[in-house]
Amino acid sequence: MKTNKTPMRRCVGCMESKPKDQLIRIACYEGQVKLDPTGKAKGRGAYLCPSESCLKKAVKKRALERSLSVKIDEDEMETLLEELRAYER
Ligand SMILES: [Zn+2]
Repeated sequence: MKTNKTPMRRCVGCMESKPKDQLIRIACYEGQVKLDPTGKAKGRGAYLCPSESCLKKAVKKRALERSLSVKIDEDEMETLLEELRAYER
């Protein structure tokens, strides 16, 4: 039996479950929201496909805010978008 299977996580944008390593973590620590490509940052985390459309969806329906219990303003979203573009596949 395989015990080291990659855990599945759900993208807060499209709500699809995917292996954790195909998603990117967004962490919220002390009110600061940032991309967490290592998946090791402190604080609450939410997972997202590395795609602009999923981030936009997640923000639009406030799924990201709900998962992280934080308010995300336009500026923060722009920053996240910029950072996410580097990981987009
Ligand atoms: Zn997605």
